[in-house]
Amino acid sequence: MKPRAFDPSRLDVAAFAQAAGVLSGEWPLADLDRLAACRPAQAQDEPVQPVVWSVEGELRKKPGAQPETWLHVRASTSIPLECQRCLQPVVEALDVERSLRFVADEAAAAELDAESEDDVLALTRTLDVKLLLEDELLLALPIVPRHDACPQPLQAEPAEPQQQPETRPNPFAALQALKRGSSDGGNSQ
Ligand SMILES: [Zn+2]
Repeated sequence: MKPRAFDPSRLDVAAFAQAAGVLSGEWPLADLDRLAACRPAQAQDEPVQPVVWSVEGELRKKPGAQPETWLHVRASTSIPLECQRCLQPVVEALDVERSLRFVADEAAAAELDAESEDDVLALTRTLDVKLLLEDELLLALPIVPRHDACPQPLQAEPAEPQQQPETRPNPFAALQALKRGSSDGGNSQ
């Protein structure tokens, strides 16, 4: 018998888990437009890695209870981002792996999500695996991308004009002066 074909853009999660389905492939980075847009302007035209992905369904048997519906998703790629130190592109590797549990509806998902460590979602017959994994990859982006060692020397001058130095006396300096006066040259830490 021919196994049922599943569509990763409209995945019937319950049927996929029941069938212990496995899907995998590659997407061009451009297909994940929110992620692709994170590239700095000067790296937009450079060749990029595809997003390598896989999804696996599991019906997890529980003694004395209904079996649980799980999806195990994974995606990896690398993407140029803007180094926050030297502002040149820095290629960051991304690798996400998540196990998601699916339950009957949103209310059950919210309840379980609050009380368990698992990531719980409501069952759907039209899960877009690419959107799901793009969300995961966006969450995995470094908050402050930067080179371990920047390839070019840093510019000495900051881009923005410097603020006027603070004219208010530093309260700690005043305190130090006070202490020096009262302790008559004693050693201070
Ligand atoms: Zn850098």
